[in-house]
Amino acid sequence: MLDTSKDTNLLDIRGVCRSFPKGSGEELLVLEKVDLTIRSGEIVGLLGRSGSGKSTLLRIIAGLVSPSSGDAKCRGETIVGPPNGVSMVFQSFALFPWLTVLQNVELGLEALGVDSAERRKRALAAIDLIGLDGFESAYPKELSGGMRQRVGFARALVVHPDLLLMDEPFSALDVLTAETLRTDLIDLWIEGRLPIKSVLMVTHNIEEAVLMCDRILVFSSNPGRVAAEIKVDFPHPRNRLDPAFRQLVD
Ligand code: ADP
Ligand code: MG
Repeated sequence: MLDTSKDTNLLDIRGVCRSFPKGSGEELLVLEKVDLTIRSGEIVGLLGRSGSGKSTLLRIIAGLVSPSSGDAKCRGETIVGPPNGVSMVFQSFALFPWLTVLQNVELGLEALGVDSAERRKRALAAIDLIGLDGFESAYPKELSGGMRQRVGFARALVVHPDLLLMDEPFSALDVLTAETLRTDLIDLWIEGRLPIKSVLMVTHNIEEAVLMCDRILVFSSNPGRVAAEIKVDFPHPRNRLDPAFRQLVD
């Protein structure tokens, strides 16, 4: 269940730099001295221009890319490879087209060594939670974009992650589909039914960030670093049960 204690630093990013070879022998510095802390219970937004290194930062946190220098820690331990308790939702869904919805979601549990009966049980629960009941045997190509991203969410949620990374999760969807999925997620949050502790969400959409986040980090570009931080003062979605807030969301 949700842990709203803000004592634990779930994530500590200190002075993280990352460059990539440009081809001409030169290096492109994408991230320069990024500092970022996420405590348990927080929902943090990351806003910034295209190409500013937001996805690279998320990949570093997910253990898919290593920093060139600096220290990235999850629960006090330097991140080397995908950390337990961190999962990611991708802009482009990143589903395996040759696997069914159920098989795609079960993949989220692969690394945990969960036996197959338990895997199926947990995957079905995640599929049901995210509103895909009845589509377990469908293949991604048979689903709409919104439903495909729901599969992406189910696969990320199935491990009950401490930290859910979302990389522009709604930006490949049309406006109405994005709105529906966002509202469904906010509803699950409000009801305390999302099995996550903290979120780091990349978005281009300021309204979305204000609606969903406790804190918004603004990224500079060339190179990327955290240039500003905005605290969102009105109550967090989880606590916004009052009708006045509902009007904002609906
Ligand atoms: P954002 O998500 O903010 O749009 P990215 O992190 O995707 O930014 O990319 C930042 C910059 O790093 C871009 O110029 C991109 O081309 C470059 N980049 C990202 N990954 C690689 C890679 N594996 N090799 C070379 N360049 C990369
Ligand atoms: Mg990106």
